[in-house]
Amino acid sequence: MNSQSSQGGRTEMYLILFGAPGVGKGTQAKLIRESYGIPHISTGEMLREAVKANTEIGRKAGTLMSYGKLVPDTIMLELIRERIKRPDCAKGFILDGFPRTLQQARELDQLMEELNLPHFVSIEIKVPDRIIIERLVNRRICESCGTDYNLITNPPPENMLCIKCNGQIGRRKDDHEMTIRRRLEVYNKETAPLREYYARENGYFEVDGSKSIKEVKSTISQLLSA
Ligand code: AMP
Repeated sequence: MNSQSSQGGRTEMYLILFGAPGVGKGTQAKLIRESYGIPHISTGEMLREAVKANTEIGRKAGTLMSYGKLVPDTIMLELIRERIKRPDCAKGFILDGFPRTLQQARELDQLMEELNLPHFVSIEIKVPDRIIIERLVNRRICESCGTDYNLITNPPPENMLCIKCNGQIGRRKDDHEMTIRRRLEVYNKETAPLREYYARENGYFEVDGSKSIKEVKSTISQLLSA
């Protein structure tokens, strides 16, 4: 079965967006979610919620995240296994930030097979490190609705209250230069090798993420509708 298959007139879409932190995976995933009506699963977001709620997983993950390190595969797989079995994933989903290691990729494939689900389309978004660092040190996020701001390109209001929901706008703990550099190192060592894993399959594409949000969105839409 293909990652985009039509069954009984409905289109299914199983997509992995991968790329270093700050390439725009989350932004693009939200746009695709709107077009396709399938959930956007961000493991980073799930973990930040667990940290906020002070759950057992949150307590285990919090410190690792604030140092820019990866959370152990066993925890991540438990989270994903539970998430993709939920009814809202019945027509597909977009993974953002998962898988991040070869072990996660292999176990995800096993899980998909177990659930009788098709192969993924995987899209790697590429952006030079210099631009990533500039984006992330200037990134600010609404703590309630997740709307992104950027001090230079899309500044938040002076009172730091979100224009969409009036929530508090803040800075992610791991969006400081030292931690960003650590996250990029971890990405290059642990996650970049996944390129070879997915490039062996037909549905692997690379997209230049240094272009505008609109241009990247249009490239991705063309790939997905092809
Ligand atoms: P993100 O929001 O995707 O940048 O993720 C923020 C942080 O959450 C990462 O730096 C990791 O500490 C942790 N994290 C998110 N997804 C994963 C994953 N698939 N495997 C391990 N750690 C993860």
